Amino acid sequence: MPMLYCEKDGEKYLQSFVGRTKESFEGEAVLVTKGRVIVEGCRCDKCNVPIKYNDTGYLISFWLADMEEDFPEYGFGYEHDYLEFKKSDVRLFGWDPELLANISSKYFY
Ligand SMILES: [Zn+2]
Repeated sequence: MPMLYCEKDGEKYLQSFVGRTKESFEGEAVLVTKGRVIVEGCRCDKCNVPIKYNDTGYLISFWLADMEEDFPEYGFGYEHDYLEFKKSDVRLFGWDPELLANISSKYFY
């Protein structure tokens, strides 16, 4: 299940994945989605600061190695419950970036 982070912690977490080698993820993957928060009453899973409607938020989820072949069918259901985002706001680390590139744009704004 993805964790929701405030803009500050989300960006910091995202940057911790940037530049890491594929091997360092040991077959697993991290999906980072940045977007405009479309729900009320959330809090950052790291610092507990309230995340308000229209704030920028980050959803970050970890995927196990054996989930890789299901990923192209993932509809971003969880992300859409919390965020409005474009495809360019989604980052995938650990797996082939093509997996993300090939996901249908119908799932994005
Ligand atoms: Zn935070």
